[in-house]
Amino acid sequence: MVFRQIQVGPIGTNCYLLGEESAGVCFVADPGDEPERVLGMVRESGLALQAIVLTHGHYDHTGGVAGILAEHPQVPVYIHRNDLYAPGGSQRYQYAGAGTNQRTYGEGDVLSLGGGTLRVLHTPGHSPGSVVLLWGDVMLAGDTLFAGSCGRCDLFGGSMEEMFVSLKRLGSLSGDCRVFPGHGPATTLETERRTNPYLRHAMQL
Ligand SMILES: [Zn+2]
Repeated sequence: MVFRQIQVGPIGTNCYLLGEESAGVCFVADPGDEPERVLGMVRESGLALQAIVLTHGHYDHTGGVAGILAEHPQVPVYIHRNDLYAPGGSQRYQYAGAGTNQRTYGEGDVLSLGGGTLRVLHTPGHSPGSVVLLWGDVMLAGDTLFAGSCGRCDLFGGSMEEMFVSLKRLGSLSGDCRVFPGHGPATTLETERRTNPYLRHAMQL
């Protein structure tokens, strides 16, 4: 397994690359800014970029998409349909050329990406179209689950009620996995079940 991570942009969004050397392909999650650094990460991996996947539509997770497409114009970009449009603000997903590259995914979708299987959980709360992505024992948690915390729910379309439903779903998944959030350090699902006050509260609802 090939795993790489860089922090991009002024608020340090985690951008991840996942792939398999044997398959020769990879995908990138949440290229929020600094597309040239993301492209460098892809180049260094030696793998062919297959797709860009977005955990949600906020600009700090999507801002580098256009710059990557400039070099990889054929690469599809996946986002949940609820975060596609920009009602009343510039905080949502927007980039030139969305028409040809744009794909939507949602609850229960399974994509063959990076030499593995990517499973999509729709986890609204931080935004209406937030998703958590499972790939092998890796959870890309976006701004839903953080180490010791969870994403804020006071932005447009956010909902604390939905967040707790989403957190409960994550806590109820079987077994353990490595959790890589959209901001801050990595953790494990079991660690969060034991110590994360938001997840613990959600599990009691
Ligand atoms: Zn966000």
